[in-house]
Amino acid sequence: MTNCDTANDGFHDECGVFGVLDHPEASNLTYLGLYAQQHRGQESAGIVSYDGDQFINRRGMGMVADIFQKKDIKRLSGRLAIGHVRYSTSGESGLRNCQPFSYEYAHGGIAMCHNGNIVNARVLRRELEENGSIFQSTSDTEVLIHLVAKSSSDTTEGRLKEAVSRLEGGFSFLVLTEDKLIGLRDRNGIRPLVLGQLDGVWVLASETCAFDLIGANYVRDVEPGEMVVIRKTGLESHKLLDNPSLRFCVFEYVYFSRPDSTLEGVNVYQARYGIGEQLADESPIDADMVIPVPDSGVPPAMGFAARSGIPLQMGLIRNHYVGRTFIEPRQSIRNFGVKLKLNANAAMIRGKRVILVDDSIVRGTTSRKIVEMVRAAGASEIHLRISSPPTRHSCFYGIDTPSDNELIANRMTQDEMCSAIGADSLAFVSRDGLYRAIKRPCSVHCDACFSGEYPVPIEGLERKNPPSLLRFNSKKR
Ligand code: AMP
Repeated sequence: MTNCDTANDGFHDECGVFGVLDHPEASNLTYLGLYAQQHRGQESAGIVSYDGDQFINRRGMGMVADIFQKKDIKRLSGRLAIGHVRYSTSGESGLRNCQPFSYEYAHGGIAMCHNGNIVNARVLRRELEENGSIFQSTSDTEVLIHLVAKSSSDTTEGRLKEAVSRLEGGFSFLVLTEDKLIGLRDRNGIRPLVLGQLDGVWVLASETCAFDLIGANYVRDVEPGEMVVIRKTGLESHKLLDNPSLRFCVFEYVYFSRPDSTLEGVNVYQARYGIGEQLADESPIDADMVIPVPDSGVPPAMGFAARSGIPLQMGLIRNHYVGRTFIEPRQSIRNFGVKLKLNANAAMIRGKRVILVDDSIVRGTTSRKIVEMVRAAGASEIHLRISSPPTRHSCFYGIDTPSDNELIANRMTQDEMCSAIGADSLAFVSRDGLYRAIKRPCSVHCDACFSGEYPVPIEGLERKNPPSLLRFNSKKR
């Protein structure tokens, strides 16, 4: 979900969604579904249920476990519920932008939540405002609700179809009405949305790890451009958008999704492990140990170690409790930087030639600090291996990235990057190698962040006011 406040235009949110229809424990399951997908957004969370009479809403800032108490789940009664976790990178992260949104309109109650980014939200919002719409938030999700409300179609499905045909971007929506749970995906299926079954009822989530926690079976991914309409009586599939063509976000495999999730038929852990093997083939180097940058560097480092025969060692230890309890220190003591989260185990590293494996280099700040730390711990050589191609372009479809000119790979050659970071050697997996490892063709993916080939036009869009560094790096997994 994106902030469409003109002052903060261009900020992208990374989110997770969950929904269930016709289950006596609907809000409890939704709570668990969000809990499993906490990595997709730690800034705010919300659940909306329908109790047969009214929509009940609980939204708050912070982590799922802090927002929802037992009494809240009890109050969120009913057999239908949707929920959302949000990670916003803009200043506009207040309660008014927490999802799901719920409304009363001419056709009854409706609630919605969203993962992704509607690239033409600003244009649509201006048009809607000129025609009298009043927005409660600065979120792009609200644009869809207004378009739905203005539609003259007789059915929710028809209204959604008409409204969604006006949206451009990468998005997965969940919609709850008084008797339906609806899930839909953009025509390129850029953001994930999976369908599962539990005790004979349908559930929808961003990632399959949510199904594992609640004991649901993964049935399939919602198709690009598809709308699934779930009623008590069963599920109907509708073709929502013309010319569907899968371009799933490859960065979900590289970094964003949980390794135990399977998306579009590919298990995230296996994809990352395979990329590590590929990296070892493409950029071998003699060394004493392979060290992952935890957590997202762990599977590729394991693949690298296995393929190269160089032992894997946990030379960097992560503090898992940093984040929400972090009190920002005064400038005078701020220089410990990355050490808040990671510490080099000097006893392991001293005098050793190490291969550090991380998932991506964005601004280059993290890598530089980690290399500095490993050097200070006594490593004799540091070889950095990255399990994605160089990130040269901003994402406009829902992954937080700074503007192009802040991306180190956009400003420097590989050799320049290597010396700026302070490593003895630096290598990225190739674009071809990435897809060989994932075992899927490049043509079914969006990798605009690496290639600059944007499947949905982004003319006129640019990133402004990039998120602060601390926030950007605060949720490595
Ligand atoms: P940087 O210091 O800007 O080069 O950040 C690179 C680090 O940020 C890598 O270790 C990644 O694991 C992590 N990272 C990559 N993409 C994202 C993202 N969209 N949000 C937060 N962290 C990210």
